[in-house]
Amino acid sequence: MSPLPYAYAYVERGQGCWRLRIPCCPFCGRAHSHGGGPLAADPAQFFSGRVAHCVGSRSRGYVLTSVRALQRRPVPQWKAA
Ligand SMILES: [Zn+2]
Repeated sequence: MSPLPYAYAYVERGQGCWRLRIPCCPFCGRAHSHGGGPLAADPAQFFSGRVAHCVGSRSRGYVLTSVRALQRRPVPQWKAA
């Protein structure tokens, strides 16, 4: 089992929800888009393993990653004070 590749994605405000846009898929090189949750939620928590949206590759996946999300990630509320 090889680890899932990383796919760079950025957050875009959609209609009623966040969209996670992947400009260049590590498998097919095309752009994909994944749901990023409601606007009231932090889209950073939706960066996770996803199944690629490539035509004909239903079983392959990647891990969404965002430099911006890492930079803007708030201090988790559950962190010990
Ligand atoms: Zn793809």
